[in-house]
Amino acid sequence: MLKDSYNRRFDYLRLSITEVCNFKCNYCLPDGYQCDTRPHPLSLDEIQTLVSTFANAGTRKIRITGGEPTLRKDLAQIVQICADTPQIETVAMTTNAYRLTKQLPQLVDAGLTALNISADSLNPYTFSQITGRDSLDEIFASIDLALELGLKTVKLNAVLLKQYNARELNSFLNFIQDKPVSFRFIELMRTGDNHAYFDAQHVSGMELQSQLMRDGWQLQPKAEYAGPAVEFAHPDYLGKIGLIMPYAKDFCASCNRLRVSAEGKLHLCLFGEANDDLRPWLQNQDVDGLQQHLQQVVLGKWKGHQLHQQNSGLTKQLAMLGG
Ligand code: SAM
Repeated sequence: MLKDSYNRRFDYLRLSITEVCNFKCNYCLPDGYQCDTRPHPLSLDEIQTLVSTFANAGTRKIRITGGEPTLRKDLAQIVQICADTPQIETVAMTTNAYRLTKQLPQLVDAGLTALNISADSLNPYTFSQITGRDSLDEIFASIDLALELGLKTVKLNAVLLKQYNARELNSFLNFIQDKPVSFRFIELMRTGDNHAYFDAQHVSGMELQSQLMRDGWQLQPKAEYAGPAVEFAHPDYLGKIGLIMPYAKDFCASCNRLRVSAEGKLHLCLFGEANDDLRPWLQNQDVDGLQQHLQQVVLGKWKGHQLHQQNSGLTKQLAMLGG
């Protein structure tokens, strides 16, 4: 099992499969995806070696992310590689639901077990103001289809934004009243490219947490291999509410995640100041060598991110690496 010098164990890999994104979320890529050089994402063979190595080293959950993962034509094969790896118990994906209703049956057949869809507002006008798109209907249809297809876990993600959705709690709550999905609010994180936006739009999740607790929502115990969200349930609601509060005290103490970029760079932290190129091992299909390397480098993981010191490390925006 990969373990760092603070005794944190890493059983969860977030794997970006492309940096390319087709949305223009104003907190992430307000001008859309730009590239100076041709992207050169990991091939299926490289992904196979990566997944086998992480699985041998104790990974039990893989989240496929991006950029926008549904833009990769071989997405179902990537899901299959993860699902066919015996130690991997959960294959999750975070997506903006682009053309998802077409792809989802094939992805579930390939072994996808959990789905997170970004839905920053349930109001079509506000949604398009945030994302530059008009695709709420595809999101709603994808959620219904995911439930119909029997996906174990379906979650929605909204980044909390002062001017846009901070007053929409009631509509989010109405939505989950009779749907078994978890709506998760992510505190906006400051990245290299969004300083002014962050200053204008950041809202603490603590205010929302207090309101939920006043209204009878109860903190739930953490599930195995769970991510960073704290989850709340209420007897009158089928769905749950999650809060991801990266600025909260001790947020990093329970970190169980490592990240690999679309081009095969290991990031020990979403906001780290360095990354580590795994491609030499991946290209040589060197599972044992890579496993030994991971065991060493993970010892260098920081105790916590430096967001409180306004240091986002290498991360200009989250599409570079996946949220
Ligand atoms: N394209 C996919 C999607 O839209 O879900 C996956 C990639 S996106 C970078 C993953 C998640 O990161 C999304 O839920 C997005 O809202 C979130 N995100 C992006 N930038 C963020 C920021 N600065 N602070 C908090 N969350 C952010």
